[in-house]
Amino acid sequence: MPRPIQALIDPQAIRHNLARAHAAAGDANVWAVVKANAYGHGIERVFDAMRAADGFAMLDLSEAERVRALGWRGPVLLLEGAFEVRDLELCSRLGLWHTVHCDEQIEMLALHKTHMPHRVFLKMNTGMNRLGFTPDRYRAAWARLNALPQVDEISHMTHFSDADGDKGIEEQVQRFVQATQDLPGERSLANSAAVLRHCTQAGVRADWVRPGIALYGSSPDHPKHTSAQWDLQPAMSLRARIIGVQHLQPGDTVGYGSSFKAEQPMRVGVVACGYADGYPRICPTGTPVLINGVRSRTLGRVSMDMLAVDLSALPDAGMGAEVTLWGRSSQGAVLPIDEVAAHAQTLGYELMCALAQRVPVTVIE
Ligand SMILES: *Cc1c(COP(=O)(O)O)cnc(C)c1O
Repeated sequence: MPRPIQALIDPQAIRHNLARAHAAAGDANVWAVVKANAYGHGIERVFDAMRAADGFAMLDLSEAERVRALGWRGPVLLLEGAFEVRDLELCSRLGLWHTVHCDEQIEMLALHKTHMPHRVFLKMNTGMNRLGFTPDRYRAAWARLNALPQVDEISHMTHFSDADGDKGIEEQVQRFVQATQDLPGERSLANSAAVLRHCTQAGVRADWVRPGIALYGSSPDHPKHTSAQWDLQPAMSLRARIIGVQHLQPGDTVGYGSSFKAEQPMRVGVVACGYADGYPRICPTGTPVLINGVRSRTLGRVSMDMLAVDLSALPDAGMGAEVTLWGRSSQGAVLPIDEVAAHAQTLGYELMCALAQRVPVTVIE
């Protein structure tokens, strides 16, 4: 028998979440962002459930190739564009749209030999200060691109730094609108947080939105809103089983460093999941888990292959009991990945992306 741990991918949840994104985006087209192997879920595993998207967006050319290999003939966008001139050959061959965020990429395009002019998304840096042309340099970049025979259509895009926070997107939208208002071309704005929180606001006009995390069922602004409040369903569930049970007396401790000490007699379950499976080692005693669908907590330090859970309130749970580390239990109860992430001082994004190679993944029928 294989070690009793698995990740389950739920296509129905992804379909539901994508429908939520479409509804929140109004008339805008929706890029399904599938970078980082679909946020750890596996592009091939989620593709079918995402067919209702208007396009797929990612960074890696190899991931774009995989989406084409799955038979997708619609739009594909490289969010960071080309890294070297040769990448543009693949863009021509596979009909990929690509971001242009710096002068070097314009120079690459000027050197690129193609019979098929490219559609590009010119990126404006409206305050994130990661990629893109600042508003004062944007127009010149646009004019250079517009003069290239290698370029067909130019769309405009920017990325928000605070769509999930109090600062919001207003300032950035203003800069973007001001710098693009008399330029032709479609506009692409909005990650998940902006789609869910701001898309209905006046003045935020997008032809394309780019949700990622919401499609996988994690709340983009947890804990301000939970996934349930956004009506999102977990696309990934990490489940393992109890492979050992210990009976503690007061004063007994659990795991490396003896960081948890029992104050009364208690039962402890040892779960076949550790940090080598992608469960964060930093999660302290008290991180929530579901045992046979009932909430409990971890005890002591997470080790490489195992962690311990509290069985005190669960007299019927023992060897073989199902432990849901995040996502949906087989009884249907949900432990949001965002809650576990909060205990690990991070976001659902990082947990789903860090699911380890050694965990077998099953797609739910
Ligand atoms: C990752 C990414 C997104 C998606 O962000 P989420 O917060 O996951 O919705 C959108 N746009 C760009 C440019 C990205 O890199």
